[in-house]
Amino acid sequence: MKTKYIFLTGGVLSSVGKGVTGAALGRLLKERGYQVAIQKLDPYINVDPGTMSPYQHGEVYVLDDGSETDLDLGHYERFIDTSLNKVCNVTTGQVYEEVISKERRGDYLGGTIQVIPHITNEMKRRIGLVSKTTGAEIVLVEVGGTVGDIESLPFLESLRQMRSDVGRENSFYIHVTWVPHIGATGELKTKPTQHSVRELRSIGISPDMIIARSDYPVDEDLRDKIALFCDVEKRAVIPMVTTDNLYEIPLTLERAKVGNFVMERMNFQARQEPDWQPWKEMVAKMRREKPEVEIALVGKYVELHDAYMSVREALQHAGIEVGVDVKIKWIHSSKLEKGTLTEHLESADGILVPGGFGERGTEGKIKAIRYARENKIPYLGLCLGMQLMVVEFARQILRDDQVNSTEFEPQTPHPVIDLMPDQRDITEMGGTMRLGLYPCQLQPGTKAAQAYDKDLVEERHRHRFELNNAYREIFEKAGMRFSGLSPDNRLVEIAELTDHPFMLGTQFHPEFLSRPYRPHPLFVAFLNAVQGGVRSNE
Ligand code: GLN
Repeated sequence: MKTKYIFLTGGVLSSVGKGVTGAALGRLLKERGYQVAIQKLDPYINVDPGTMSPYQHGEVYVLDDGSETDLDLGHYERFIDTSLNKVCNVTTGQVYEEVISKERRGDYLGGTIQVIPHITNEMKRRIGLVSKTTGAEIVLVEVGGTVGDIESLPFLESLRQMRSDVGRENSFYIHVTWVPHIGATGELKTKPTQHSVRELRSIGISPDMIIARSDYPVDEDLRDKIALFCDVEKRAVIPMVTTDNLYEIPLTLERAKVGNFVMERMNFQARQEPDWQPWKEMVAKMRREKPEVEIALVGKYVELHDAYMSVREALQHAGIEVGVDVKIKWIHSSKLEKGTLTEHLESADGILVPGGFGERGTEGKIKAIRYARENKIPYLGLCLGMQLMVVEFARQILRDDQVNSTEFEPQTPHPVIDLMPDQRDITEMGGTMRLGLYPCQLQPGTKAAQAYDKDLVEERHRHRFELNNAYREIFEKAGMRFSGLSPDNRLVEIAELTDHPFMLGTQFHPEFLSRPYRPHPLFVAFLNAVQGGVRSNE
């Protein structure tokens, strides 16, 4: 079979769940026995989101190969349960960087370099790389932003050209729009969708399907209207009402026969009947009434929950396994720097400090960690959350409040967390951290080894600093165990406290490998400890 391409564009508004829709559709096709990959085309000029503030962009999602990508890649991997690679996230910055460096090398032999064809050719080349590098038979390609944005035009032009490159039978265009609700009259309005489709058609793309996102049910009349004005079949107008559970979306799309329509239009057959039973059971378990546990998530970007997308999902996945409903209490770390902790943390059954960069709010996080240690509240620290757990512990045993990470206090007398040696000569910020999958050897008899029930694991990383090995012995004597180490023993990957029900930190980011069916063992162990604590308090 020739590679089939499904292109997703957005209309009216961004942030209406185009990424999740693509991810869910990917699942529908995977359920039919096909190898699927999903690619995100981001129109911004940054080479990757690695250098962007989480406030701008939300979480930076890291892949096995160490690429720093858009958070939609997290949705893709969680839904299609396939590891993606660096070609699955393309930015305008990458495309121009490549074309300009070719021009400087003289590769274009004196030609004038233009958006069409040079930029669009490079974009299409990168779309083509997905099936080549992943073996996918069906490639979904999502364009970030909405139709009408100046900067997404070259990407849309590339998608338009793709239809004649790969043929009508191998290309399918989906437009995801927003149908607003007018409070005063209680009506849903299709006009913005009509305008958006008109805009798309003026670029030369006629959608084969419209996904009409809305906060309210879109009825038959509205479907008729959208079909008529936008020139798509009525059965290809798919209403999608906002849900509080993302994992229901594949089931919604299946009920709307989206998979079958796509196959019919692109002329291929399912290799197997989709088996939705496990997925349905998972959703039912999520829906089931369960005891609630409160996890205090102490971070500095908590106003924007998207900044911790994978952590939130990983907690939810583990909650299904452990049988608890995880309620996250978002706590801004700088709020903890003044006043007492009790009011913020008293109700927490567990405390989690996720990854982060820069000094702001670190002392607040350290206070929360101290509270967890002293009150024996289960604690999970991710990356920076592990480093600060070490700082807090060291301040106690060395009896010195100046103990710190050199990231925050370069002159500290006790640099218990320090820059990794191979980071010392690095001056460029982009893509230069220790990134991606690295092995971690688990130490027998530790909580980490028990949780994983394995000797060797691989986890995804994104950091520059590490535990300073000069302090290992002192810490070990005082009750900290290094339960995960790099196989050469040089790098501490997991630290845990012996005299505590569950106080564990990882240098890596376990949240990136959690899947709805396969919750991450450390998140499960954390929630088990949390649940144990809740029970014993009752
Ligand atoms: N800022 C820390 C480092 O670079 C932690 C990074 C993180 O939490 N991802 O090592």
